[in-house]
Amino acid sequence: MLEPLTQIGRDAATGGYVRDAWSPADMELREWFAGEAARRGLDLREDRNGNLWAWWGDPSRRPGVVTGSHLDSVRQGGAYDGPLGVVSAFAALDLLRERGGVPASPIGVVCFTDEEGARFGVPCMGSRLLTGAIRPERALALTDDDGDTLADVLARAGRRPESIGRDDETLAGVGAFVELHVEQGRGLADHGRPVGVAAAIWPHGRWRFDFRGRADHAGTTRLADRDDPMLPFARMVLAARAAAERRGVVATVGKVRVSPGNANAVPGHVAAWLDARGAAEDDVRALVAELAEGHEVSEESWTPVVGFDPALRDRLARVAGGGTPAPVLPTGAGHDAGILAAAGVPVGMLFVRNPTGVSHSPEEHAEQADCEAGVVALADVLEDLCR
Ligand SMILES: [Zn+2]
Repeated sequence: MLEPLTQIGRDAATGGYVRDAWSPADMELREWFAGEAARRGLDLREDRNGNLWAWWGDPSRRPGVVTGSHLDSVRQGGAYDGPLGVVSAFAALDLLRERGGVPASPIGVVCFTDEEGARFGVPCMGSRLLTGAIRPERALALTDDDGDTLADVLARAGRRPESIGRDDETLAGVGAFVELHVEQGRGLADHGRPVGVAAAIWPHGRWRFDFRGRADHAGTTRLADRDDPMLPFARMVLAARAAAERRGVVATVGKVRVSPGNANAVPGHVAAWLDARGAAEDDVRALVAELAEGHEVSEESWTPVVGFDPALRDRLARVAGGGTPAPVLPTGAGHDAGILAAAGVPVGMLFVRNPTGVSHSPEEHAEQADCEAGVVALADVLEDLCR
């Protein structure tokens, strides 16, 4: 089932995927989702925020159990982050139908829009809008690298920017949400188990740093006369690493925009994005405060620690473990599941073993047998929750 997706948005030179929200690749993936829903006779709905829902049963009669993930990607990402959860959701539904019987609760397969935030900088946009975790005006004003706002991009995709925002009607249909995801670390590989359950999502955020200087000639401007913003930027990157080590958290500068971006010119402006996460909120906050000192910094997103519902977590571990409870693992990655949990939806997550532990890279991998174990675990969990 993953096969038809392997060529969509693939960069032939690197083998990585580029699947920005609302890009042609994303539109193709959305078409694929609609096709899978239609093939199974599911009722396809796109909510006001662009999230896709394929329902078996009617969630307006009784809240359903929802599973799924996202289809967009970080730039140069791998094949499994997101798509594995969506494909496994359809496959688990197929398995339940093969087993026979009609679940007491409706079952929904969801594809959240713009989970990675690769284009507009804010991750989990679809679930944030759905739950009201971001103001629509703020979302609509965000710009991509071409200077197009989300409002422009939605309008061009034939959507209605004016109707985005918290959607109580759609939320009311979600009785519980279980997201299956490729593991983004080596926890399961170390445990020697194919499937695990999430304990909590670390608090995490993104901050934009703006370093301003004066663009000038790289040959004729004396060093003493320069106002080069690359220097404070470089100091910030090194300070971030040192502070992260000292405070026991992780900090990453993975995106930088240099203007005007000429090899033979002192830059006039450097914009850089810091991503910071850790087990304790205070440590992450303290790191950012330390780095921000004396700089122009704006917070683009912040997600507090998300502890998943303990009863549901233990239930998932029991059901998904097939005899021996599945390992329970913390994660440093954000997910739509975390946004829904913060909005009060009972949420659980299943992880599928990733032998390399590498993610957000073409190296990301999951063995076929482990993917199948994930589908069986997900089907068992859905069956249990739908009773
Ligand atoms: Zn993901």
